[in-house]
Amino acid sequence: MVFNLPIYSPEEELHDPLFIEKQIQVFVKRDDKIHPFISGNKWRKLKYNLNYAHQLGKTNLVTFGGAWSNHILATAAAAAQFGFKSIGIIRGEEVKNPVLQMAQLFGMELQFIDRQLYKDKALYFQEHVDESNHYFIDEGGRSSLAVKGCEEIISELTQAYSHVLVSAGTGTTAAGLAVGIESQNLATKLLVVPVLKNADFILEDIKELNAPIDNINLLTEYHFGGYAKTKKELNDFIKDFVSKSGILIEPTYTGKLVYGMFDLIKKDYFPKGSRILFVHTGGLTGLLGHLDKMNLD
Ligand SMILES: *Cc1c(COP(=O)(O)O)cnc(C)c1O
Repeated sequence: MVFNLPIYSPEEELHDPLFIEKQIQVFVKRDDKIHPFISGNKWRKLKYNLNYAHQLGKTNLVTFGGAWSNHILATAAAAAQFGFKSIGIIRGEEVKNPVLQMAQLFGMELQFIDRQLYKDKALYFQEHVDESNHYFIDEGGRSSLAVKGCEEIISELTQAYSHVLVSAGTGTTAAGLAVGIESQNLATKLLVVPVLKNADFILEDIKELNAPIDNINLLTEYHFGGYAKTKKELNDFIKDFVSKSGILIEPTYTGKLVYGMFDLIKKDYFPKGSRILFVHTGGLTGLLGHLDKMNLD
């Protein structure tokens, strides 16, 4: 291992009268504390990719994402820290926002391409990039090396849990958790909250990453209209949660996850004595695109 970050991601217990009433315990794995920009699961997904890129002698990282992508910013920051050049290929027309500007500050070159071209990323990479020194990283960091990095969320755990909960975009993090749970023979159930609408396909995607899916319960009802969409109910929930816990969450990923968790707790989904852990996957810069709509006055 050449490139590494010292990981600080404690398991912290949360307190709420509801948890006492339902006789359960709730903990959060603070992957948001790993790094402010190479945040949460994005570092875990990049780690083995960066090392492999280095091993192959590649000097440039090329990756893909939408205009508010946490993965784009994480790749830019990691490239800067570990001595790579980076190119971010952004879906759609040219835009400016704080996430992309911070990526540029980390030295990333941005290329905006139309949505049609963007659909076949591997082809675009082949046709536009010099493969001798550029390393391809898929949208969201999805890859089998990323799964390997995410498995370590499970191997780091210091306690046993009956349930682990995580949000899902590409499902790569969930795949890593599923592999970790299986390889350690844990009795832990894995609950996955997709942030996209109609996301039943995610189980197939997880299977494609060679992860077991029989232990996964997919909760597809907490997408709030789709990717990066939110509603007043979710925004109000986030305000309440953040002000009571001191833990910042955002509406694109962890907000939907924690909302779903509380909803399930209220509906007695978890048996008495359950020890629940949810993974805070970071990505708090995503909040910057939502603050104006959160009715904070
Ligand atoms: C990218 C991201 C996810 C989704 O992770 P997948 O491995 O793609 O499912 C979840 N949470 C945050 C904060 C993210 O930035």
